[in-house]
Amino acid sequence: MSEECTHECGSCSENCSERDMHKKPHELSNIKRVIGVVSGKGGVGKSLTTALLAVTAQRNGLRTAVMDADITGPSIPKMFGISEKASGTEMGILPVISKTGVEIMSMNVLLDNDCDPVIWRGPVIAGTVLQFWTDVIWNDVDYMFVDMPPGTGDVPLSVYQSLPLDGIVVVTTPQELVSMIVKKAVNMAEKMNIPVLGIVENMSYVKCPDCGKVIEIFGKSRADALAKELGVENVAKIPFDNALTTCSDRGLIELFEGDYFQSFFEKLEKSVGE
Ligand code: ADP
Repeated sequence: MSEECTHECGSCSENCSERDMHKKPHELSNIKRVIGVVSGKGGVGKSLTTALLAVTAQRNGLRTAVMDADITGPSIPKMFGISEKASGTEMGILPVISKTGVEIMSMNVLLDNDCDPVIWRGPVIAGTVLQFWTDVIWNDVDYMFVDMPPGTGDVPLSVYQSLPLDGIVVVTTPQELVSMIVKKAVNMAEKMNIPVLGIVENMSYVKCPDCGKVIEIFGKSRADALAKELGVENVAKIPFDNALTTCSDRGLIELFEGDYFQSFFEKLEKSVGE
């Protein structure tokens, strides 16, 4: 405990012995692994990565869930083509189940209208995310992927403190790697003793459909250098692939045929213990 301790654990990032901040999930939930998917800034493909990791886990025969903690910019239901709303019982809220059986909870399955904005202050948003953990009946889940809002605000802080995360996956793009923003996100997780399990360099290249030549449209890949700097071994380089845009825009991400995340996911499984 620091000498300046205010005993306000909820707004403090110190990792001291006094702290047991992990919230209990709903009593009917049984969640084995929880992995956060984070990025320094928006638009780098964090939600797409979350969706593809969930699809990969589900294809590997694991019971999979996605918690969409991006409350003000939820994109997970759209990628999975979910239009129905969450239901509830006296016991708690039930997640929506995707076509292949992925359990999903998102602000957009609670709002009457998908386009309604959520105009709430940070602590209320963070409280809602915690309710996604405590009040949702997640059943038996082998892997839960948490799609975090970008950056280092209230929600990442609450999730790092309150959920028993096995680690995070950091999503970035070649351009973003030159900035310090992604390192801020990584440093925040490290300060809170959350391991970085892998780095995803999204839109890393395009492959010419005619000759197969790899073109690094956003500049030279820097994922390996960053991974080395951070001591992370698991790196995935995902191309810009029009089929991905089409599948995610049409709600057909579960039908995407590529397996960009298979070996990345296998290494992830090894690092968290199968
Ligand atoms: P973020 O969650 O970081 O804000 P998204 O995952 O929502 O970003 O991605 C933003 C948009 O870019 C989406 O329409 C998504 O389908 C598209 N996109 C992301 N990565 C790729 C990729 N590798 N190839 C093609 N489209 C992509």
